[in-house]
Amino acid sequence: MDLGIAGKWALVCAASKGLGKGCAMALVREGVHVVITARGAEALEATAAELRALNPAVQVRTVAGDITTAAGRAAALAACPQVDILINNAGGPPPGDFRDWDREAWIKALDANMLTPIELIKSVVDGMAERGYGRVVNITSAAVKAPIDILGLSNGARSGLTGFVAGLARQTKLASRNVTINALLPGPFETDRLIGTMTGQAKKSGQPLEVVMEARRKTNPTLRFGNIDEFGATCAFLCSVHAGYITGQNVLMDGGAYPGTF
Ligand code: NAP
Repeated sequence: MDLGIAGKWALVCAASKGLGKGCAMALVREGVHVVITARGAEALEATAAELRALNPAVQVRTVAGDITTAAGRAAALAACPQVDILINNAGGPPPGDFRDWDREAWIKALDANMLTPIELIKSVVDGMAERGYGRVVNITSAAVKAPIDILGLSNGARSGLTGFVAGLARQTKLASRNVTINALLPGPFETDRLIGTMTGQAKKSGQPLEVVMEARRKTNPTLRFGNIDEFGATCAFLCSVHAGYITGQNVLMDGGAYPGTF
């Protein structure tokens, strides 16, 4: 299927690794020019080189910076001639017990996982509407649908974003101008973040990492973790010309782990 987005420009936030990188790879394969961001310049440049090798016809620009800061967002937006596609992503908040979280911890989580995507959406959607094409995909978490106790900061901040977007996506001045805003809700995907979490669990339990990972895989109906290529492919479809009638949706990608009928 031709996704019909070759030549468009995408800003893919937090994309040197993991899910953001998967989205950038899928968009580049479709001929989309990309601006990718991350804080660490070395991994970012390595990913940019991989993307250029995937499709030499596209432009790949890098912006090293923290997307949760105003300066980081301004630099990312300035590097993109026009944002036709916005992929919102950033690191997730740390796990813990809500009794230990003070106002500062909450503000940090809200900044990263709610207010940063809202600020970026605010910067781009009216331009998208004027041009008659826009796709926003927010990378959130399966925890929005089925909260995870120790990820209270994530449950809270991401649910705030989800509620806000549910209203915004349905604004006629956006939806009638071919601007869609959706979320992708990842379950367990095999990325550095997931491996980092499992490494912590392995150390705590004294078991080898692979044993902990295999036990976790077995809890999923697919008996495996998701991979960034399948995540990216779904993201690219939501950004495609074919997905103009899908907006305000939360697309769960969890291998069937969520046990409900809907
Ligand atoms: P990852 O493999 O650790 O990759 C995170 C990427 O984001 C890296 O490129 C990182 O680069 C960049 N990044 C992090 N914080 C940033 C910031 N403030 N500004 C700019 N770039 C930043 O993580 P992932 O697994 O892809 O997770 C991506 C998001 O999905 C996270 O919010 C995570 O909580 C959520 N999620 C993941 C899973 C999963 O199973 N993997 C499940 C549910 C939700 P630098 O560190 O160099 O900045």
